[in-house]
Amino acid sequence: MVITEIFKSIQGEGTRAGLPCVFVRLTGCNLRCVWCDTAYAFYGGQRYTVEEILERVRALAGHGNGRVSLVEITGGEPLLQPETPALAVRLLGAGYTVMIETSGERFVGALPREVIKIVDLKCPDSGESGKFDMANLGAVDQKDEIKFVIASRRDYDFARDFTARHGMAQRVGQVLFSPVFADPEGRWPGLSARELAEWILADGLPVRLGLQLHKFIWDPAMKGV
Ligand code: SF4
Repeated sequence: MVITEIFKSIQGEGTRAGLPCVFVRLTGCNLRCVWCDTAYAFYGGQRYTVEEILERVRALAGHGNGRVSLVEITGGEPLLQPETPALAVRLLGAGYTVMIETSGERFVGALPREVIKIVDLKCPDSGESGKFDMANLGAVDQKDEIKFVIASRRDYDFARDFTARHGMAQRVGQVLFSPVFADPEGRWPGLSARELAEWILADGLPVRLGLQLHKFIWDPAMKGV
């Protein structure tokens, strides 16, 4: 497998935000979201066998009472690499709770059911809207999460309407609305979390506001956190 980085940090997003987690970031993505904050994972990387990844995860997660039990497979787009389902099987077999963060463009149904799938649904301002594989709606369940990253009122309206039209709040355990975080180098603007919170409250939506916790804890431009 081609890997950009393996590191231990705090889970920054979703319903497990705040928990210690080991991240396995796979190299390569076939999308180019305008506000992508992991473009450094598009190219390069280092070859690892599944066994070598497991060893690295084990070393970072530690042992005994203080063992980190949560592992996230992310990218880039982790479902582009054919060995990803096998990696997930091995991590589950080693006793970890396994999450995967994916763009939604690839079908998640080949992953073991026990894997917690965080599936993005790209809004218009990402520049990659319309790429979602609609078959994924039938492949997620109550332990999974659907995430809309929102850059504007137009994105919010899209996410709200999609959530209602497809009964997303019933299909998955959590629907996440996350504001785009402004690029530290000024390449794209952010959306105010307060503005998004006020839209959600005004419409009474059954969704969770998601903030990228790691960007508040560390420098927003920092890698490996
Ligand atoms: S799908 Fe994810 S990794 Fe790929 S360009 Fe979009 S935000 Fe970046």
